[in-house]
Amino acid sequence: MSAPTEPLAVAVVFEPSSVLSSARAQCPYCGVGCGLELKPAAAALDATAYSADSWTVRGDRLHPSSLGQVCVKGATVAETLDRNRLSTPLWREQRDQPFEAISWERAFTILVERIQVIQAERGSGAIAMYGSGQFLTEDYYVANKLIKGALGTNNFDANSRLCMSSAVSGYKLSLGSDGPPCCYDDLDLAGTVLLIGTNTADCHPVLFQRLLKRKRHQKEALQIIVVDPRATATSAAADLHLAIRPGTDLVLLHGVGHLLLQLGAVDPERVAACADGFAELAALWAGWTPERVCALCGIEEEALRRLAALWAASSGVLSLWSMGVNQSVEGTATVAGIINLHLVTGQIGKPGAGPFSLTGQPNAMGGREAGGLAALLPGYRSIHEASHRAAIEQHWGFPPGAISARDGLSVWEQIEAMERGELGLWWVAATNPLVSLPSLDRVRQAVAQCPLVVLSEAYAGTETEAMAHLVLPAAQWSEKEGVMTNSERRVTLSHAFRQAPGEARPDWAIFAELGRRLGFSKQFAYGSAAEVYAEFASITAGRLCDHSGLSHALLAEHGPQQWPFPAGTAAGGGQPRLHTEGVYPTANGKARLLAQQPLGLAEPPDDGFPLVLTVGRYLGHWHTMTRTAHVERVCRSHPEPLLEIHPADASCCNLDEGALARVSSRRGELTVKVQITDRIRPGTVFLPMHWGAAQEQACEANRLMHALGCPISKQPELKAAAVRVERAEIAG
Ligand code: SF4
Repeated sequence: MSAPTEPLAVAVVFEPSSVLSSARAQCPYCGVGCGLELKPAAAALDATAYSADSWTVRGDRLHPSSLGQVCVKGATVAETLDRNRLSTPLWREQRDQPFEAISWERAFTILVERIQVIQAERGSGAIAMYGSGQFLTEDYYVANKLIKGALGTNNFDANSRLCMSSAVSGYKLSLGSDGPPCCYDDLDLAGTVLLIGTNTADCHPVLFQRLLKRKRHQKEALQIIVVDPRATATSAAADLHLAIRPGTDLVLLHGVGHLLLQLGAVDPERVAACADGFAELAALWAGWTPERVCALCGIEEEALRRLAALWAASSGVLSLWSMGVNQSVEGTATVAGIINLHLVTGQIGKPGAGPFSLTGQPNAMGGREAGGLAALLPGYRSIHEASHRAAIEQHWGFPPGAISARDGLSVWEQIEAMERGELGLWWVAATNPLVSLPSLDRVRQAVAQCPLVVLSEAYAGTETEAMAHLVLPAAQWSEKEGVMTNSERRVTLSHAFRQAPGEARPDWAIFAELGRRLGFSKQFAYGSAAEVYAEFASITAGRLCDHSGLSHALLAEHGPQQWPFPAGTAAGGGQPRLHTEGVYPTANGKARLLAQQPLGLAEPPDDGFPLVLTVGRYLGHWHTMTRTAHVERVCRSHPEPLLEIHPADASCCNLDEGALARVSSRRGELTVKVQITDRIRPGTVFLPMHWGAAQEQACEANRLMHALGCPISKQPELKAAAVRVERAEIAG
């Protein structure tokens, strides 16, 4: 779709209305979504001044999700706000040229002209955007409206694809809709908590501390089970740790199902009342005997039996998972495998129980609600449903058929499209895929073929900026107002409390301005983030993720609220749990039990690459370190990346503690310092994923990973690749 260019309608920039005495916001790091309270330091009472160091941060005691708790990342966030910031649009025709500062006027002119040429010559399918769970819901909503509505292509994906799209697919397949059914209070009520594929202590620290506190006070009432190939701060607190081989999570879950049947913990009649598919699942479980399961998982039978016995005996079982489950070629099936166990034992829809995915990013949940993946539309709708497209077209004010019924490109499909020379414009916003995507050499080569790479970003000097032609300075959290939803479906309004640097603008305002300049002045005539949110909230009415009773004004007055929150709901009246009546949003109201045989790793170890590399995070660092590399306290705690290797493997590889190792996969190699530890199981090695090529101690772990992903969720298997480890010879 192409439309005549119209003159600029409204320029939306942050205008500080008054000097603030304090501000409340959701932490912009992980999906726990803690509340922060920010106060200007006494020496800097002019809160509108552009100086981040003049702010102090503490946990917001009034925030129901975190009750005043905060981890090192949240506590130090103010130190990241004004370091290394982009403040003006930058442009270069060729990548070997230096950037020149340009005006927003010129930046929009370039964008409009290029988009119109691409549309005329190749169609809108040659344009793709890759956004971020760092977006506010307003950013997500307007980006989707621009790409899927105004441009008519579904090529909008977000880095949530790397994080939890398997959870989305699993919830949809099993329960009929996305939407974690649990809440954080369930941590205080569960009898057994299963943490599978999640190092919660490091990745969701405030939630983990809540669990630990309870364990200290109610030692016998709470049993903690951890499933992870690596011993972590999470497993240190566990009553039972199953260090399974990477890629055997689904095998383990089926083994638990087998034993639950043996233990008489499943009532087929009760299951039949709320879920379809039990006979097929029971037949599949019958083949997963403890002997077979334990041989594949590499664990003792006693541990498996103890897990099943704890599950069977517990009045409330809560399962928590994150990327260890989701980042797999069988991510969706594994999520469904967790949900199966909850459905057949009635451990869902009641206090202290349920399958609870923990989201990685602060607003990945809001992205799902706003339609922020290639197959989604706002309000948990799908591009595959004609009625959903029609509802959104009408709401957005576009003619029937404006939204394409064709699948959009997921992020890896966007990379493949660039390899084939099919993309004319790739727009990356608020994320750093040149560190976070798998198979990075291939990514670099693909992106190098794209004639126009646009980057909207708050921070200068990222690895992705090195591949960009046009860089747009984005206002970030603290400089723009808007909402985020955390893992327990709680929506928090974050206030703008400081001026953005230079000419930086909110992402939603950049997208809206472009929409107006492409001729859609009516559809993008927003004067504020509150207006954007009001439009989004109204289209969610009647959907599971109903925000229609929420507004910026209500959230400002009454604080964070959980959805569903239909119009007319009183403050505090959102629903803490979903599916409490045992009725699911499917055609017959029943959930579905998915019987899927395990596949294992896409790239199992072999003679040439005998070890499995798994990647993860350190407590203090966030993703690709665009922010945390500038926080001294964090860098002191995590000064360098280390390869964790078991003593037996280190001995085979002729490695001593502190030696340099060369780690090679079929896609490349890197050199890194060795840490010998029995925290990792033999046959598996671990690297952190934070250090990209722009860091002084570059260690591009994802360069080694393959790009195969779950065929349903399209989430890459970033958690496992076959590697070889050798002693690195030091030149000279
Ligand atoms: Fe922020 Fe997550 Fe830490 Fe809470 S746990 S302060 S949301 S990084």
